[in-house]
Amino acid sequence: MESLNDRKLKYTDLKMINQSFLNKIANAKYLGPVVSVYLNSGMPKNDRDPKMNVAQFNSLKNEAVKRQQNYLPSLSHDQKKSLEQDLENVKELVTNEPATTRFPSLVVFKSANELATLIKLPFPLLPDRLVIDNSPYTAPLTAMLQLQKKVLVAKLDIDRTVFFLYNLGNCEKITHIPTQSQNEEVDKSRPNKVQLHHLVQLKRHLKIIDDYIYRQFTNQAFDFLIVIGHEKTTTKQLIRQLHPKVRERLLQEVAVSPLQWTDANSCRLLVEKTLVDFENKYEQEAISEVIQARGQHGLVEGLEQVINAQNRGLLTTLYVDKNLQQEGYICPERHYLSLSPEECKICERAMQKSDDIVDELIELAVAKNVDTVIFSQRPELMKEYQQIAALIYLTT
Ligand SMILES: [Zn+2]
Repeated sequence: MESLNDRKLKYTDLKMINQSFLNKIANAKYLGPVVSVYLNSGMPKNDRDPKMNVAQFNSLKNEAVKRQQNYLPSLSHDQKKSLEQDLENVKELVTNEPATTRFPSLVVFKSANELATLIKLPFPLLPDRLVIDNSPYTAPLTAMLQLQKKVLVAKLDIDRTVFFLYNLGNCEKITHIPTQSQNEEVDKSRPNKVQLHHLVQLKRHLKIIDDYIYRQFTNQAFDFLIVIGHEKTTTKQLIRQLHPKVRERLLQEVAVSPLQWTDANSCRLLVEKTLVDFENKYEQEAISEVIQARGQHGLVEGLEQVINAQNRGLLTTLYVDKNLQQEGYICPERHYLSLSPEECKICERAMQKSDDIVDELIELAVAKNVDTVIFSQRPELMKEYQQIAALIYLTT
């Protein structure tokens, strides 16, 4: 018999959350049903308020059960018992786990002792949901990963280069590479030689940095690079010799004094500010695409039209105001969306209510590799288009 301990939820570090992790848990076979939970604390009154109360949890659970009227009765006695215990475990966790302003949302995947993952996210993943199915419901995390920017920061100090990783709202130092290799002796009595030595050394150091950055970009799928240097010539030299594929991902070069900051938190603030500036520019460029496409047949505007185009698989680029939210309906097979409770036009099943059909739409679009622009810095730019628009394939 398994012990209760085997069923305990294990905290999964944000560093581990990537697409291959999600694929791995989504494609694994489980002996029983999987409970998936997404919870947002909203704005906790203080850092000790629990994320959720028992009544809220029960209402999410009842909705999940209602949605699975065909699946749940097909479970064996043991599977049902196991599911009950998983739901108890999860309830205990979410009604006791304190909400924090730093980590406002919580994701749980639980299936007996085969899957017991707890993830804390530094930003909200709306709406709250509880899903019971034969595999974990990872679509919201997948969409989030696609929309979040992963940034590598290289900070060139006098004696070393420090690397920081910014991912999912978190920043941490990953490594540093010293400028001078050890056991190097220079004849200090010959100034010219010393200077030459420094130049050679710097060149070698920049080559090592360059290789390191290239490897990181190849292996870890970074979106952007930020280079911080105290000395312009060296920074420029590094940027010049970056691999072209990396150089086009250079978000910004920043000049700060080497003593100005060294900790991960200052780095996080800098990256966030840089990303805000970038998004501002990006959203303005995106809206000019929309303006240009307007009046041609390739643009649809407003939620209803965009949903129709999505249902027909026609979207190429999706533009959404981040504040747009609306109730709607989705087929349990997740291939058909609607604003009204009609039956699915593809499989004729009854549709399920969704608190936010826009969110479902974004998840489906991202899963199908539709370019998606969320207007988060300049949402007012989308007002003219009823907050949502899309470029579509032209059918003839
Ligand atoms: Zn359907």
